[in-house]
Amino acid sequence: MSARILDGKKIASDIRQEVVGEIVAMAVRGIRPGLAVVLVGHNPASEIYVRGKVKACAEVRIYSEQHAPAETSTTADVCALINDLNRRDEIDGILVQLPLPTQIDAKRVLMAVDPAKDVDGFHPLNVGFLSTQRPGLVPCTPAGVMEILKRSQIPVAGQHAVIVGRSDIVGKPAAMLLLNANATVTVCHSKTRDLSRVCSQADILVAAIGRAGLITRDFVKPGATVIDVGMNKITGNSEFQRLFSGDSEREETFRKKGSVLVGDVHPEVAQVAGALTPVPGGVGPLTIAMLMYNTVKAAKMRRGSGQGLVASGQQIGG
Ligand code: NDP
Repeated sequence: MSARILDGKKIASDIRQEVVGEIVAMAVRGIRPGLAVVLVGHNPASEIYVRGKVKACAEVRIYSEQHAPAETSTTADVCALINDLNRRDEIDGILVQLPLPTQIDAKRVLMAVDPAKDVDGFHPLNVGFLSTQRPGLVPCTPAGVMEILKRSQIPVAGQHAVIVGRSDIVGKPAAMLLLNANATVTVCHSKTRDLSRVCSQADILVAAIGRAGLITRDFVKPGATVIDVGMNKITGNSEFQRLFSGDSEREETFRKKGSVLVGDVHPEVAQVAGALTPVPGGVGPLTIAMLMYNTVKAAKMRRGSGQGLVASGQQIGG
C-alpha cells in the first residue's frame, strides 16, 4: 500500500486564487488590503521566510511593507514601531517574524499588536476567540492543516486526532481547531510516555515536533491520515542515509546542495498511512496562503464587510 499524497501546493494555489477574487472585489470599493512585516535583526532563515511572504503579497496584490529594526533593538523600540502600525489605517495586518533576538520580550511584543490586525493569530484575545469558537484570526499553519483535511475530504468529526507538539504557534491551536471540528483530540509532547503507542491510535496524526523523521511506521495506524508540519534541514550523511537511503532524487539534491529539507515523518510512513502530506509541498505552502487569507479577512473585519471569505460556497479559515 502507498499513501495518497495530499498536494499542499495545489490546495494553497486554490486558496490564493480565491483570495485574489476577494481582493479584486475589494478594489472596486477602493480598498487594498495591507500587510506590514516586522523582521528584527538578521536571522537567515527568517529572512527567507519574510521574502516568501512579501513575494506572495505581490502575487495576490496585497500591499506590503517590510520593517527591519536593528538586531540590538529593545522591547520598547519594537513596541513603538508596532504602535505606529496599529494606528495606520492602510495597514490591515501586522506580522512579527519569530524568533526575536533574546533581549526582546516576545510575549510583550505580540501583546502590543492590535488583535484586529493580528494576522498570525498569536494575541491572547485571538487565542481566546479560538478556544471559545468566536470569530477571530486563526494561526496560519494550523488553519492550513484544517484546509488540507477539508479540501481533501478527510472526515474529522468523531475521528481520533493525535497531535505531537504543544507549541502556541502550531500544536495548541491545531488541537483547538480539531476539537472545534468535533475530533477527539490527544496532545503529545516531550514528556509523553510511550509516544508510539499513543500515536498509533490516531485516525489523524499531526506531527509538529521539529525532529527529522521521528515518526516512523510503528507510530502509524494502517490507513491513518498523517499531516507532517515539521521542517528540518538535514546536513549530515548518516542522518540522510537513515531517512532517504535508496532515494536517488533526494541523493542528487543532497549532493548538490549539501542539505535536504525533511519533515518530522519518516518517508517509510508512506507505506502504512492512508494519506500523507509531503515535505516540501505539504503544509508549508498553506502557511503562506493562510497568511494572505488572514490579511484579507482582517481587512474585511476591520473595514466592516463581514467576517470571512466565502470560497466554494463555504467559509474557509476555520
Ligand atoms: P516548538 O519547538 O515550539 O515545539 C515543538 C514541540 O514538540 C514541543 O511541544 C515539544 O515538547 C515537542 N517535542 C519535541 N521533541 C519531542 C519528542 N522527542 N517527542 C515528543 N514531542 C517532542 O516547534 P514549533 O511548534 O514551532 O514547530 C514544530 C515544527 O514545525 C518545526 O519543525 C517547525 O520548523 C515546523 N513548522 C513548520 C511550519 C510550516 O509552515 N510548515 C510553520 C511552523 C513550524 P515540549 O513542549 O515538551 O518541549
